[in-house]
Amino acid sequence: MLPKNPDVVLVDTTLVVGAPVRLFVAGMGDALSTWFEAEDCKQTGSANMTGRVGSMTAYGLARMCFDTLLADGAAAKAAASQKIVTPEFERIVEANTLLSGLGFESGGLSGAHAIHNGLTALEGTHGYWHGEKVAIGTQSLLMLTKRPREIVNAVYGFCEAIGLPMTLADIGIGDATDDQLLEVAKLACDPADTMGNVPGSVTPKDVVAAIRAADAEGRARKAKQLAA
Ligand SMILES: [Zn+2]
Repeated sequence: MLPKNPDVVLVDTTLVVGAPVRLFVAGMGDALSTWFEAEDCKQTGSANMTGRVGSMTAYGLARMCFDTLLADGAAAKAAASQKIVTPEFERIVEANTLLSGLGFESGGLSGAHAIHNGLTALEGTHGYWHGEKVAIGTQSLLMLTKRPREIVNAVYGFCEAIGLPMTLADIGIGDATDDQLLEVAKLACDPADTMGNVPGSVTPKDVVAAIRAADAEGRARKAKQLAA
């Protein structure tokens, strides 16, 4: 889409560590989607952001992105809260920028970003960052594509550990009606967006059900948290 690739990707972690922690966590929310969306594209043979099928390198980097988040995300957030650059912090910066960037551009997007894009139609979500809404999109995609329970647990456990949104209330739309979610879902299923890269045929009603299921999972987790 751009005439040439960047000559260099340079990130100064001593600057990044001074940014608000919420932004750093939102970056992990965006990076959380990368592997799932690349996997969907791999499974369906869908195009990446350059219009070509991804390379095995791209899919491998996307997986490395996810593994790094799970391994280092919580420790990196703790380091960011103290404004200390640790090896975990460095690795998450690499995952949030390089691995997620290459993973999505060269692997491709599917339902998490399509749902994010739909969510932006609801005014309540406007005070929330891209990555915070992508986290909800990712959780919804897991439900939509019936990912294995251990993956669902890993993703929610990660979101819980670092404080990413897990419910619609967390992104300002706890009172969303079915009609509003249907509007979100219709936008997400627009042929110009990337929902078509999800395996199987997906209807807006499926998307509403997936968003509701993801929200229910998040609310159940929070209820357990309170009871503990
Ligand atoms: Zn994104």
